[in-house]
Amino acid sequence: MEEKSLQSLKQHSELLAQFIIRLSKFYEGFSPDIDNELQKLRGHLSGRPDFTLANVSVNKLNKTLRIADLTVRKYTADSLAQWEEAVKKLQHSLIDEPALTKESAKILISLNQPVQSLFVLQSLCNKVLGLFQQVIKTDSNNADISSITSAPALHQAISDELTQLIESYANKNSEDDQLRALRHKLKQGMTEDELLQSCIVIIRLVVQDSLSEANISGKVIQSLHQALGGIHENISQSIEQSQSNFEARQSSNRDIKAKLDSIEDQLRQAESLEKLKQQAQSYLSSMALSLSEREEAEQREQAELMTLLSAMRNQLVNLQKQTQQYRRKLAEQIVSTQTDALTKLGNRKAYDERVEKECQHAIDTNVPLALAVIDIDYFKSINDKFGHAAGDKTLQIVGKHLKSLIQPTDFIARWGGEEFVVLFPATNATELKSKLEKIRISLSKLPLKFREQKISLTASFGGTCYREGETAAAMFERADRLLYRAKHSGRNCVMIDQEFI
Ligand code: GH3
Ligand code: MG
Ligand code: MG
Repeated sequence: MEEKSLQSLKQHSELLAQFIIRLSKFYEGFSPDIDNELQKLRGHLSGRPDFTLANVSVNKLNKTLRIADLTVRKYTADSLAQWEEAVKKLQHSLIDEPALTKESAKILISLNQPVQSLFVLQSLCNKVLGLFQQVIKTDSNNADISSITSAPALHQAISDELTQLIESYANKNSEDDQLRALRHKLKQGMTEDELLQSCIVIIRLVVQDSLSEANISGKVIQSLHQALGGIHENISQSIEQSQSNFEARQSSNRDIKAKLDSIEDQLRQAESLEKLKQQAQSYLSSMALSLSEREEAEQREQAELMTLLSAMRNQLVNLQKQTQQYRRKLAEQIVSTQTDALTKLGNRKAYDERVEKECQHAIDTNVPLALAVIDIDYFKSINDKFGHAAGDKTLQIVGKHLKSLIQPTDFIARWGGEEFVVLFPATNATELKSKLEKIRISLSKLPLKFREQKISLTASFGGTCYREGETAAAMFERADRLLYRAKHSGRNCVMIDQEFI
């Protein structure tokens, strides 16, 4: 071989050796077997390269790498599947986080693309990790606000129930500072300990209240008992009196009859007219006396009866007054326990009672009954931007506005928080859709202003019709699910059961 071409071959071999050394360094840490063999290969190629030994190493590496390639592919596919599953699971709990939901959807698409290199895999891994980090951050932010650390659904349910109870008591005792403070705290969010303590306070109030209620009822029953006792006594007296009067009248009748019999005898045996005349006069005057005594007795009897009757009437009037007062108080109480303190609309209790009646009516008459659940969109941001008092005012305005948009035969209640529920009797799904659309548009045009700043407010609607045989709760749950769909379709929209239309 010529000197020149020998030189060139040597140069190429050195270049190749350098390349193999760099490549093997790149794969360092890949697997202990490959690492070991690569180290040997680097040894054979550095300094004065030993191509024969290097050749042996390369052959060994070839085999190991072929197996490793399959392992890596399987490992990559497994990782991708695991990440996909994790992101999908996460997505279920991201329903209230539109930005994160979008992000997770993007990641899911990338995870389904073919992976071109380890770098792509790594970047995907980073994205997934990033998403989880964001979720953890959002969760901990939320926890700051509500201080809820475990069983959030149960916590929320207890909070809601307590809010309802407090609303009805606050209605009755608007001056009660303890109640006011509790209400305020509840709206801001409570820790589990605080929630438990508040439950105890409210239970104590409920017990006190029902005891005083029982006291009032007891008093009414007692006076009712007394009055009835009085009337019973009067009636017994009057029966006794009429018995003795009857006996007196009978003896007076017997007396008069005896006198008449005696006159008859005298008439039959009369010897002289003069004697007869005398006797007749004496009998007549005695009879006149008996009759006038009897008349007096009757008058006395009547006067006594009148006194008894008027006493009885007075007792009855008093009784009537007391029962009326009690009835009014009971009615007021029913109204106050069924009224939402803030919006003055019916509360959940009022809804529960009404919906049962309306469902029964729908069954009896075979006339459709529609139900809508309305939830204000992004209401939390009004509280956050303008404060809780502004949030309260907004709820009052929205409640009043909604009430003004429905018929007197319809029924609206505040379900809780910023959620309202409306019953539309004699309304089918098509009519419901158009009614709700009108309400939605009207609500979105409501001129609201805080600190000179115009606020646009919208709501989402879920609506359905009663299906015979189902419970009112089942109908509500369906409407609530449709509301959920409305929220996920971008809010400010109406979702109705399609199968009805
Ligand atoms: P979305 O569109 O998903 O319904 O968002 P949102 O912010 O309306 O709903 P979210 O459930 O996240 O928040 C509801 C907020 O309503 C949280 C709570 O502080 C507030 N809220 C509930 N009841 C009252 C209340 O009586 N007064 C005030 N001011 N705020 C309330
Ligand atoms: Mg809302
Ligand atoms: Mg809500």
